[in-house]
Amino acid sequence: MSERTLAGFAASPGQAAGPAVVLAGGEHAAAEVPAAARQAELAQARRAFEAAAADVVRIAERLRTEGRLPEAEIVETGALMAADPTLDREVSRLVLVEGRPAADAIRVAAEGAAAQLAALPDPVLAERADDVRSLGRRAAAHAVGGGRARGGGVLVADGLGPADVADLLGLPMVVGLGDAVLDIADGEPVVVDGDGGRLVRHPAAERTAAAEHDSQRRAGARARARAESHLPSRTRDGRLISVLVNAASAAEVSEGLQQGAEGVGLLRTELSFLDARAWPTASQHVRFLEPLLSQLGGRVATVRLLDFGGDKTPPFLAAAHERGIELMLAAPEALEAQLEAVVEAGQATRLRILVPMVTGLEQVLAVRQALRRVAVAGRAPALGAMIETPEAARRARELVRALDFISLGTNDLTQLALGLDRERSGASPVTHPTVLRLIDSACRAGNAAGIPVEVCGEAASDPVVIPLLVGLGANELSVGAARVGEVRELVRELDTAACRMQVEEALLDQAAHAGREGG
Ligand code: PEP
Ligand code: MG
Repeated sequence: MSERTLAGFAASPGQAAGPAVVLAGGEHAAAEVPAAARQAELAQARRAFEAAAADVVRIAERLRTEGRLPEAEIVETGALMAADPTLDREVSRLVLVEGRPAADAIRVAAEGAAAQLAALPDPVLAERADDVRSLGRRAAAHAVGGGRARGGGVLVADGLGPADVADLLGLPMVVGLGDAVLDIADGEPVVVDGDGGRLVRHPAAERTAAAEHDSQRRAGARARARAESHLPSRTRDGRLISVLVNAASAAEVSEGLQQGAEGVGLLRTELSFLDARAWPTASQHVRFLEPLLSQLGGRVATVRLLDFGGDKTPPFLAAAHERGIELMLAAPEALEAQLEAVVEAGQATRLRILVPMVTGLEQVLAVRQALRRVAVAGRAPALGAMIETPEAARRARELVRALDFISLGTNDLTQLALGLDRERSGASPVTHPTVLRLIDSACRAGNAAGIPVEVCGEAASDPVVIPLLVGLGANELSVGAARVGEVRELVRELDTAACRMQVEEALLDQAAHAGREGG
């Protein structure tokens, strides 16, 4: 059979090969169970729920031993749902009366319960819908013997719950493959390419071998990163470059810390609310933040305010054209709710609040004012701005006077400065003269003001760009969890003087390039 490639979005880097373990769908019509076999089928469904609950308890126990208590509690509620009598009644009816096979009955009953929860006006209860779906998928997999999932396959699912995500930490992941993914048969050979955002069905032998090689290399790099997490991330000439982790989940925070991250450099708060039907409330924010921030102790926690808009637009903002902080300033109660929650959940951390998509000083001043209103005992956290629009980079000298740190968002900065489409242009040419010039002015402004200059876009983990960033004066790099160890290792090989020389050369190139552009 020849290869078939499904295109999606890269969610977690690396490649892996193996048989598909399908934890999804079940839309295919299943044969009716004969009346005489229905009691046995029901017993099988109940055993599947017990096995799924046992999985979830095991995951929660592991999270507890890792000190991830709030996350353990969230995951554990999944186990309670397995014993829900309403769910059991519906499964019994489906099996005994309708003759549905165990896995099918579990999926249908779980989907029904999830739909009821999702329709509740209480947003906290509505959020539990995904937990029920997740438990249903896990139990259905056990019912068809899919509980073997942990032994080296590629998990295929139409959605994931908190327990699944905690379980899959650090593995290559692709999302948004569309309905075609549900046609994949259990056991079918596949390669998941978490760098290219693709899944290949029936991969050729060379592709499988390359993915296996990548998988072994990553496992080795991860083990080395963890073993070397105690080594300082200093350049050869002794300059400290903090390596922090970019995170949107508790699992990423945990992985980053194990690889030696000194804290969180970018917490993307909006990703958990992309399906929101209204601005999140303070308690929704706290529920999301606690499992992440509770792991940090007194370390840096850089929490970015909701960065909605563009490719991150929830349904309730579909008609809006603004992005980032501009949207929040138009909804002052939403801004205050988030600030209040961040201050509460981040009490024990070295909290820093980061403002997205800044274009002017007045935005920063407005957030500073709102922050004063929610500060506990007059102790307001540090305030920083993303420098990710060309306007912010050009106005950096003016902005830094009102800021405690800056963070360069090279992803948006590159796209906006060069007029590219973020979703379609793959590699960002950060070293393009126009972009480099903007990074240079932001770094100079931050260094002159004596405040931390962080870089949190993809460029911060690009081995080609890191020496330039360090040479330009960045002193913090915030990177994806899987990359923390390798970036720390790379920093230890750098020499500031050599980095500066590299910058000089790049700027000379820039002059040559500008000369060519000017004709
Ligand atoms: C960036 O733009 O570089 C950035 C880090 O923000 P995000 O990728 O979340 O838009
Ligand atoms: Mg951005």
